[in-house]
Formats: sequence, structure tokens, C-alpha cells
Amino acid sequence: MYKNLKSQDPSVYKSILGETRRQVWTLELIASENYTSEAVLETQGSVLTNKYAEGYPGKRYYGGCRFVDEAENLAIERAKKLFGAEHANVQPHSGTQANITVYLSLLKPGDAILGLNLAHGGHLSHGHPLNFSGKFFQVIPLNVHPDTETINYEEAESLVEQHKPKLILMGASNYSRIFDWERFKKIADRVGAYYVADIAHYAGLIAAGLYPSPLPWTDCTTSTTHKTLRGPRGGLILCKTAHAAAVDKTNFPGNQGGPLMHVIAAKAVCFGEALKPAFKKYQTQVLKNSRCLAKALQDKGLRIVSGGTDCHLFSVDLRSVNVTGKEAEETLDKAGITVNKNAIPYDPQKPFIASGIRIGTPAVTTRGMREKEMGLIAELITDALGHRTEDRILKGITTQVKSLCRKFPIYPAHLT
Ligand SMILES: *Cc1c(COP(=O)(O)O)cnc(C)c1O
Repeated sequence: MYKNLKSQDPSVYKSILGETRRQVWTLELIASENYTSEAVLETQGSVLTNKYAEGYPGKRYYGGCRFVDEAENLAIERAKKLFGAEHANVQPHSGTQANITVYLSLLKPGDAILGLNLAHGGHLSHGHPLNFSGKFFQVIPLNVHPDTETINYEEAESLVEQHKPKLILMGASNYSRIFDWERFKKIADRVGAYYVADIAHYAGLIAAGLYPSPLPWTDCTTSTTHKTLRGPRGGLILCKTAHAAAVDKTNFPGNQGGPLMHVIAAKAVCFGEALKPAFKKYQTQVLKNSRCLAKALQDKGLRIVSGGTDCHLFSVDLRSVNVTGKEAEETLDKAGITVNKNAIPYDPQKPFIASGIRIGTPAVTTRGMREKEMGLIAELITDALGHRTEDRILKGITTQVKSLCRKFPIYPAHLT
């Protein structure tokens, strides 16, 4: 692979090879990451990257668009089928871009949005002060309940009555339980607010019917395509017909220029994969693995935020073992296990230190790992955390990680 790049630009080749080896030889437990199929990779590396196609299929501002039109129409039709959506826009460059488009389609600058607090599992693009969303809109953050660490619907109701937001945006980057999507629709209706769900994390599980879909209730639903959905890095907007024209116009020419046709074609491939029965089997295993790994860590004395998980991810509260999230992330990295530090609800530490780590099973499940391996991974994690300063032991763990990776190969052709 990469024979041209290797000879023409050895420096860039070296970073690609290094990253390939890292992905192949370490345990990827970052909940938002996955390994796409070879077909998705091929599509993203195709000549479609050369094509300008501003506009939408059949209505472009450039000539020569008939083949990219075919690819985009496939992506649109498959996305609609996969999620039971009335309309799909497959052009957002990312999940954040999809959210920006939806805000600008439904709101005016200064309008109020109710969203889940970032520190309680929400996302930057749901109204963080440093993000576009927090600068242009007035954000009302919703916290989880301090006892159960689950969505506080009563608080949502009273915040909505009090602030009368124009939009309720629900969804999370780090929330392991089920959202009662219908209940938020009722809350939105009390003040006539728009209702948007961001399913960036849950999209694959929702497509497989293993996590409730918000689509029956939402005006718009945004997503990424690269997390549980296992496609190329990108965004997606699904909406009711009533919002279709506004969403399309706001995405282009409103806030994007030329669409990334190679990525859009790869989204079509990803949606095609997700429509096959094997995808449901995969997602079923993702869920089993997540529950099994959370339970195994619990059995070793670690506290899982909210007590468990109903999806592909969960957060571990490390205060009982006296380790910060930052230390845990660094230690596990040395042991060949990749996670990210994360704030737990009402975290006493600053976000850059954090008291927890977030763990997800989509990537290891793509490699074919099952419950037995989850038990072993729990042991490797607790072993590493218990020997943070002993580099020799951490090195020994990397050897065990490598032998596990050898048994569940990924991208073998990319190493040569
Ligand atoms: C990951 C994520 C996004 C944004 O995705 P990017 O593609 O990184 O911009 C948006 N919302 C939620 C809830 C996410 O988890």
C-alpha cells in the first residue's frame, strides 16, 4: 500500500505508517472511534475528491456532476431508509457542522437553547461558551440528577417553563443511559419549542434497532457517521419534510461551500453496510461487550457512573482508586490501551484533569472481540492502574495487549 506516497513523501508516509501500527497493535477503547471497512477507506481515497459539486443532486452549480449525483442520491436514499427519515442531508462536513446548520435553520442569533451540560455528558456544540453555539445563542444547560446521574426530567420541565427556549437539543457524548425522547417532545410542546436530537454517538445502535430512535418526535436529528455507525468522518441531518428546504439552504450556501463528494460516497457505502443483517449482529455484540466490560470493572471495585450502561459506552469514576482521569489516560496509554479522560457529573477536578475515563466498545468489537476478551481487558486495565509507576509491569501489559491484537487482526494489508 501507499507505494507512491512512500517514495514521494517519506515524511508523511512515516506518520501514516506509525498511526496504522498504533491502530493495529493497541486496544482502542475511545467511545467515539471505530475502524471503517476497507470499502469505506477505498471510497474516501477515490478520485471523487477532485470534484466540485456545490448544490444538490440535479441542481448543481458545476458541470460534470452526473456520477457524483448518483453517489449522493444513494447516500440520501439509504440514510432515509436506515433511520425512517422523511428527508436527509448528507453534506455536513462533521457533526458540529450539522448542528450549526440546524441552529441556523430554526433559530435567530440570541435565541435560547436547552441542552445537556458538557460537564454532564453533553457536547461542545450544544452551547459551550467557547463554541460557536455558546457565543451565538443563549444556552440553558441541563444537569443530570446528582443521585442517579441520569437525566433530570423534572429539572428540564422547570427550566423550560422558566426560560422558554426556542429549541431543545438532546443528545450526548458521554451518557450511557436511554434518553426518553418522547418525554422531551412533550416538554418542548409546552412552550412551542423546536425539538432536535443529536444522535452522533448512538446512531449505529439506533440504525440497528437496539437503542430508541428519536425520529418520530424530532423536527431535526443530527448525527456523525464515524462513531458507532462506522463510516467515514462526517455529519448527517435527518428532518421532517417541513424543514427540508430550510436545512438544505442553510447547509449550502448557508454555511458550507463545496461538498466532500468522496466522503459523501463513503457515507453511502457505510449506510449500505448498516442496512445489512451483519450490522445488527455487530451492534448487538457492541452492546453486550459494553455491559460485560462495565460489569467486570465494577466487580473489580470501580464505580461506573449511573451504575451501568444501556449503550456502547460508560464512564468510570476513578476516585475510589485515587487516580485522576489524566493519570489513568496516560498510564493506560503506556500499557497500549487508549481511552480518554472525562469529567464525571459534579466532578471536583478541572476538565483537563477530570476524575473519570470514558470507555467504549465499538472499535474492539469491530475487531471481533467478545465477552471473554472484555473480562481480560478489565484485568489489564485494573492491573495497569494498580501499577502506575512501574514501567516494567506496564510494558508487560503491552505484550499481553499485542497478543490480543494479534488474535483479532485489523487492516493487515495496510502494514505492508
Ligand atoms: C462527536 C459529537 C459531535 C460532533 O462531531 P464532530 O464530527 O467531531 O464535529 C456532535 N454531537 C455529539 C453529541 C457528539 O458526540
